[in-house]
Amino acid sequence: MSVNVDNSIMQENAPHDFSLNDYKVVWKQCLEFIKGNVPALTYNTWFLPIKPIDFHSNTLRIEVPNNFFVEWIDEHYNTLINRTIHQVIGEDAKLIYVIVDDKQPIIDDEPNLFSQPVEEDKPKEKQGSNEPEFESFINPRYKFENFIKGEGNELARAAAFAIGENPGATSFNPLFVYGGVGLGKTHLIQAIGNKIIEKFPTKKVIYLSTEHFTVEFVDAIQNNTINEFSAFYKSMDALIIDDIQFLIGKEKTQDLFFHIFNTLHQSGKQIILSSDKPPKDLKGLNERLISRFQWGLTADIQPPDFETRIAILKNKANNYGITLSTEIFEFIAMNITSNIRELEGCLVKLLANSSLSSKEIDLALVKKTVKEISTSRQVNISIDYITQIVCEYLKVDENKVREKNRKKEVVMARQIAMYLSKKLTQSSLKTIGLHFGGRDHSTVIHAYNTIDELVGNDIQIKDTLDSLRNKIELGVA
Ligand code: ADP
Ligand code: MG
Repeated sequence: MSVNVDNSIMQENAPHDFSLNDYKVVWKQCLEFIKGNVPALTYNTWFLPIKPIDFHSNTLRIEVPNNFFVEWIDEHYNTLINRTIHQVIGEDAKLIYVIVDDKQPIIDDEPNLFSQPVEEDKPKEKQGSNEPEFESFINPRYKFENFIKGEGNELARAAAFAIGENPGATSFNPLFVYGGVGLGKTHLIQAIGNKIIEKFPTKKVIYLSTEHFTVEFVDAIQNNTINEFSAFYKSMDALIIDDIQFLIGKEKTQDLFFHIFNTLHQSGKQIILSSDKPPKDLKGLNERLISRFQWGLTADIQPPDFETRIAILKNKANNYGITLSTEIFEFIAMNITSNIRELEGCLVKLLANSSLSSKEIDLALVKKTVKEISTSRQVNISIDYITQIVCEYLKVDENKVREKNRKKEVVMARQIAMYLSKKLTQSSLKTIGLHFGGRDHSTVIHAYNTIDELVGNDIQIKDTLDSLRNKIELGVA
């Protein structure tokens, strides 16, 4: 049982008796404990930037800037963190990290495996005063003001800006932005959302990843609320859907999306989409959707040129409060060329390395950090690709793996594909389940545990898994 207690009183009281709204107090007490146990530089670099989100049933959720942050804290301060939450909250305390970039929460004691569906973790956005409250899922961090203009994104940015000023009223409807990983698609399309909310507080705007949209759709089918689901999206003034390439292979979601698209478009409401490729290359997507995606403006985002990379680095460094020499900026910009997320990651890593060794950020440290990033560069592996390779290897029909087939060899292939999807991609359990005929996340956990145990006990299985892994990783390299 918890009662609402005035914050100032809470602070003086003994721990273990916080109310739901006291997440800030809980985190503040945690910070005080941590502060007493680490050097000031470490505290400022790693713990001050964390923001508490909420606190339910002894579980505190905190927001961290990126995945690297979580890994670093977990690797270096895991014991301290555990001690802290036990001290402040109690023995059964739990901590969940929510990453601002990917909205991928990671539970402290079960990293990776139990990451939850992402989208439930965004702060609530209040929409127009007369409208019922709903979650817009738009990250307030993604603004036009901190989106650096460059040759590679000029058209996309200009069109996006015009839409933000005048949603539904330009000829850019839909706006279809496409480009490679980490080039700013998500940032840009959410910046439109932020702009609209800022300029037109009564307009209803919602942002969803395609996977989130699909999960909501599957839930609506299960709960028999398709009509409400459809009406909700049709009531938007602006609908922003990210990574629309993930609609491929999801026929029913495509059908419903088609109807929502038509209704919105006919009533002059704004639709904004992103994808990794242009509409015409979305093989496997319904032709009528592909043609509609080309009705408005299709704009690509190309990797940033050297000057833009420098400008982005300077902007980010400024935000992190670090000053670097021109030589250092140039070295990073020369060596990290194709991905803005990596430019950002490089600065965070630099900050981390210098904070840990209490060293100045000099060129030697920069060279070491850039090298680390280049070698750990992850290849982009999809769940579907993993499934394809596993099925080829085990000579099992790929479709059967996605159906309710319980034949021994099919179950085995399915479990191995789920296991490798968890190991080799960043996808959440829910997303993985979705790729295997809409199975529940607990099925994925079960598959993971089953294969994990087999790998530990059976050398032959281990060999099979190793060869599969090699094949998958080489295939996309
Ligand atoms: P994508 O969706 O294309 O994979 P994101 O939008 O997630 O890429 O961008 C990756 C990171 O790079 C984000 O943190 C984003 O804020 C940053 N970023 C991308 N483009 C720019 C830009 N032009 N200016 C400033 N930051 C950018
Ligand atoms: Mg994105």
